[in-house]
Amino acid sequence: MSDLLIKLSGSRFGAGVVKLLGMPAPVELARSAGPYAEQPLAGKNILLGRSQNGYAIDRLWQIARDAGALPLETTGVKPDILVMDATGCASPSDYRALYDFFHPQMRAIARNARVLIVAALPAESRDPVAAAAARGIEGFSRSLAKELGPRGATVNLAYVAKDAVDRLAGAVHFFCGVQTTYVTGQAVHVTSQVAAPASLVQHGVLKAKVALVTGSARGIGRATAQRLAQEAVQVICVDVPAASDALHRTCREIGAIPLLLDITGPGAPRQLADFIKERFGRLNILVHNAGITRDKTLANMQEQSWDQVVDINLSAVMAIDQVLLAENILRDEARLVYLSSISGVSGNFGQTNYALTKAALIGYVAAQAPLLAARGICINAVAPGFIETAMTQKMPFMAREIGRRLNSVKQGGQPRDVAELVTFLCTPGACGISGETIRVCGQGLVGA
Ligand code: NAD
Repeated sequence: MSDLLIKLSGSRFGAGVVKLLGMPAPVELARSAGPYAEQPLAGKNILLGRSQNGYAIDRLWQIARDAGALPLETTGVKPDILVMDATGCASPSDYRALYDFFHPQMRAIARNARVLIVAALPAESRDPVAAAAARGIEGFSRSLAKELGPRGATVNLAYVAKDAVDRLAGAVHFFCGVQTTYVTGQAVHVTSQVAAPASLVQHGVLKAKVALVTGSARGIGRATAQRLAQEAVQVICVDVPAASDALHRTCREIGAIPLLLDITGPGAPRQLADFIKERFGRLNILVHNAGITRDKTLANMQEQSWDQVVDINLSAVMAIDQVLLAENILRDEARLVYLSSISGVSGNFGQTNYALTKAALIGYVAAQAPLLAARGICINAVAPGFIETAMTQKMPFMAREIGRRLNSVKQGGQPRDVAELVTFLCTPGACGISGETIRVCGQGLVGA
């Protein structure tokens, strides 16, 4: 689904027309088409800065070098990536380090640049002043994301616990890498609540893992199955019998195993469990992607629409988890990812039923994370904004155009962008992240 404004803005004449009409001029966002590289930041110019007493800087230098980035020791060269260790910001006077680091770079920051700020975990500080100083960085980071978004650049924040600094590699690879495309203005928490696996790198680590993706005949589910298959994951693709042709096509293309199943059907969790046990004996990755909308204002909503959305988006998800976790089919160190939505963050007109289920998933992952931590299992949600799929294609033209433009990068995301975030959360490198909901919405104004 192409975006005419991106095409127009890419040529000198078209850009002139777009400007004349006063329309947004979105830039072509950088994306990766392939699997993770061994050196994820190879050849990129990286500028690192720090606040006084920052405790993550040594680790960040090491991660940057190991990832193949070229640390800039001198000014005058355009950075592709800027990383700021702001863990030392413990009072308002420390904020000056942010200004001093970023201000001189602002005009030079390239299109599709990547910015990552690392801050102390506010909850770890007993001193309210230090906690406030750490939390304030989120306001800075989100605002910077809005300023740099029109250039296609991303800005994200990682709060890191003192004992989790050695887990930063995964977050640095993702948030400083090309794959972060439509994830911007986000804040994630990196902690040590989940036991760390032996390797924290991304490259090659998902090989031979077994994943199940629901609703993968098309859209985001299909892109996720495809992306995981690129990492040599053995994928089981589930969708309803009515989507049989599309599901089989997807599976043929990526070498996945199809399973026609309505996840709300009687005995569906049992059927899934038996299928996985028989074929593989275990499951390492579960992506709950299947979801539907039945939009109407509450006054006009039929009970059937209410029930269908709750059944598919939530009840079926929980019923499946219950069986797969109780029977230890989802093994230790498993990764669970749920497709929430920015509607679940902010609510949305005509979506009381949908937003309810998507908000429930946010609560679900937060509550499950500490319960599953001892088994080394990470559980997270991703909340897409406007993604170009059949679901958003159904929207009326004006509503679609508004949804697509109301974000910092002035365009919709691609299913692949969501798939990149989901895949990152399935890597061992993301072991510090659990119980979180990360938006993949180009910093959409809905849910802001
Ligand atoms: P989509 O409608 O294109 O695809 C959803 C897939 O789920 C379809 O193949 C469908 O057949 C399948 N499915 C539906 N009910 C099922 C059931 N009972 N059992 C098994 N499979 C079933 O949707 P999409 O746009 O790719 O969205 C995927 C997920 O992302 C959904 O959970 C959606 O709520 C969420 N999401 C999407 C967007 C967006 O902009 N597209 C935004 C926010 C959240």
